[in-house]
Amino acid sequence: MDMPFSLLKRLGAGLSRQSCLLCYQSSHDLLCPWCCQDLALFNLSACHYNLLQWPKIRQGLGEPVYHKLLACGEYQWPLDTLIKGLKFSRKTRNAKAVADLFYTHALRPQQPWPDVIIPVPLHRSRYQSRSYNQAMEIAKHLARRSGLPVIEACRRDKRTSAQTQLSGAQRRRNLKQAFTLVQPLRVARVAILDDILTTGSTVNSLSETLLQHYPDLYIEAWCIAVSPLHQ
Ligand SMILES: [Zn+2]
Repeated sequence: MDMPFSLLKRLGAGLSRQSCLLCYQSSHDLLCPWCCQDLALFNLSACHYNLLQWPKIRQGLGEPVYHKLLACGEYQWPLDTLIKGLKFSRKTRNAKAVADLFYTHALRPQQPWPDVIIPVPLHRSRYQSRSYNQAMEIAKHLARRSGLPVIEACRRDKRTSAQTQLSGAQRRRNLKQAFTLVQPLRVARVAILDDILTTGSTVNSLSETLLQHYPDLYIEAWCIAVSPLHQ
């Protein structure tokens, strides 16, 4: 028996519904419209799509050696909950939600894009205990959206624990020479991707490692959220 088209359409719509990752109510998308409304996204066009030009953000970052910073918003509800879920509760679907958000909010087709995405690596021991790298999970979804390749260019040699308890200066000392280049880069522009940027020490240390080998490399830092330490 043929079903009327309207009924098929309704069934299809029903099948495509899912639960919002944050509030669990039925939603067409990974985040429902109400939770999306809570996203306090940065006005990136006001800082020419480079948060290093925004004094409020720039003042907390020491001396960045990377050239450009992009992020969706501050590390507060609901971005903090999505990132914590991804990082500590194995909610790997959250990676798709934040990657989609970054793609639609922070990237502009008319701007030159980097040649590759380099997710910030975890130290081997942390990777073994977590069994995945949250930055890599986000990078994989971003690669699908953008068509950019993801490469694991560096290894993390130092296990830097309890970063959140440390001051900016301690973090910088803690992360000095924390990374080693493990494969050659044959590109001119890269994006280092991390879930959250606090003092920028991690991205800066990784950038220093890349620049030691490729002084002319153009480096963008891509982060989902910036910590409120900058406020
Ligand atoms: Zn919701």
